[in-house]
Amino acid sequence: MNLKGKTVIVTGSSRGIGFAIAKAFAAKGANIVINDIKIPDETIEEIKSFGVDCIGIVADISDFEQAENLVKGAKEKFGTVDVLVNNAGITRDGLLLRMKEKDFDDVIRINLKGTFNMTKHASKIMLKQRRGAIINLSSVVGLMGNVGQLNYSASKAGVLGITKSAARELGQRGITCNAIAPGFIKTPMTDVLNEDVKNAMLAQIPLGRQGLPEDVAKVAVFFAENDYITGQVVNCDGGMVMQ
Ligand code: NAP
Repeated sequence: MNLKGKTVIVTGSSRGIGFAIAKAFAAKGANIVINDIKIPDETIEEIKSFGVDCIGIVADISDFEQAENLVKGAKEKFGTVDVLVNNAGITRDGLLLRMKEKDFDDVIRINLKGTFNMTKHASKIMLKQRRGAIINLSSVVGLMGNVGQLNYSASKAGVLGITKSAARELGQRGITCNAIAPGFIKTPMTDVLNEDVKNAMLAQIPLGRQGLPEDVAKVAVFFAENDYITGQVVNCDGGMVMQ
């Protein structure tokens, strides 16, 4: 897909990986819908500085109706929805025996159900257009599991299931659906980890550094631009997991 003038929704994009993805698509000339729970004015202004149009829509994507209104808002403003990046996600880490039911439910509701909500609403429009690209943020933890992240790894493995099933269901109408599995990326989500955990993660990375949000953003643009790749997972992890 040529991204110039296309409409891209990025969920959870006021910061971190989502914001880097929004900027990468803006640099390609796409109009951007920033979504988050809170959206600072500067976020929208920075995207507009790429010479594209940008709106912010506050919505909790884990809520079915709010997700629907987000997609409707994008369509009303720009007329199409060409790319959806399901980026919004949370962690509520803890060992299994200490993990509260709410921590499990919240992570599944936002990471997995949120991806379902957005994919369902956006694909309705993409099916009519006979064009679209859906890109889901999974995680290497969804592939290999992780101590203290049972809820998160279950949600991110589920995202891979959504990705592959949606790719099979929507492919006939020219819609691709792929996933990115980031490793250890420098964002507010990982900044809160203690130094011991950070060093243990770094020791597992052959390329010897923490990833940047921009590294992940390049993969998202690659998937959106290529119309003949679907149902795939690309690890962006410095070699942490090799399949
Ligand atoms: P981040 O810095 O925490 O940013 C995530 C954004 O999503 C936050 O602004 C957050 O808002 C927002 N959000 C949370 N729940 C939402 C909801 N229900 N509706 C709308 N927005 C919501 O995270 P990140 O590190 O950039 O991660 C982005 C994605 O990559 C996530 O799916 C994450 O699981 C995945 N990932 C990250 C890494 C990593 O190393 N950073 C590795 C693998 C995968 P609040 O701040 O208000 O919660």
